[in-house]
Amino acid sequence: MPYAYDDQNVFAKILRQEIPVSPIFESDHTLAFPDISPQKATHVLVIPKGAYRCFDHFVQAASDAEQLDFFKSVAQIAKQLGVSEASGGNGYRLITNSGPDSHQEVPHFHIHLLGGEPIGPLTS
Ligand code: ADP
Repeated sequence: MPYAYDDQNVFAKILRQEIPVSPIFESDHTLAFPDISPQKATHVLVIPKGAYRCFDHFVQAASDAEQLDFFKSVAQIAKQLGVSEASGGNGYRLITNSGPDSHQEVPHFHIHLLGGEPIGPLTS
């Protein structure tokens, strides 16, 4: 049984502008901002504006327009940050934790975009 979306999560508060962030990108359905605790030289979080708990929920419940907007936005952000092939960068890593076993802490679907320096292999 899926759990309900908790609108008190930190990303819901960011979307309602109850918690300030400095967005680096915004589109109709997508918002991106720096992670508050960066793990790499570049560490950005990309979130849909809709209320989706995790990747599974997003793919099942979001409209095609929302999904297309989201994934195209991720590529656009990587280009904007200068880490993508399209912008002559050295590449980047996308991570999304989906559900309890993955150590997802904030129950609003988000992708971590990491780069700006060499990143080692996945370790756990
Ligand atoms: P994990 O911490 O295990 O990666 P998540 O995938 O749920 O779990 O990631 C949540 C991310 O949200 C963390 O990297 C955390 O630093 C980031 N974060 C939490 N609060 C804020 C905030 N107010 N602004 C920006 N990033 C935040």
